[in-house]
Amino acid sequence: MKKDDQEQVRLAYHEAGHAAMVLIVGGAVHWVTLIPSKKFDAHTNATTFSPSAAVLVALSGDACERIRFRHASRGAHGDYATAAKKIAPSRIPRYIDVAKALLQLHWKGVEALAQELLRKKKMTGAEARNAFTVPGSGEPS
Ligand SMILES: [Zn+2]
Repeated sequence: MKKDDQEQVRLAYHEAGHAAMVLIVGGAVHWVTLIPSKKFDAHTNATTFSPSAAVLVALSGDACERIRFRHASRGAHGDYATAAKKIAPSRIPRYIDVAKALLQLHWKGVEALAQELLRKKKMTGAEARNAFTVPGSGEPS
């Protein structure tokens, strides 16, 4: 795989991690994109309804990369800053462990979301939800 392609795959899993966690904690995904803008390399736009949910979502891009690639390499600095506004930085590793456990429980859905995002590059909230809730993804009914 070319380096740019590898980068796209990593970005897709990073954003899929954010978007999947929004859905897991009962928030609303508005859109997800791999297309860079002036402000972001890629971005998940969403609403969550509690501070701890927001922290889990912020750390899930990193957590998802750790599951898929065994380490996180990019894009997590802004995410850590977002999380550190809501909780003590010393608690971040624990929240990442929780985020990893939740993503692993729903891994089939995370994979489906990442693959669909790679194909489409940009998804609406409804498309993200449909991709995530594939049969057998572990999504609670
Ligand atoms: Zn991120």
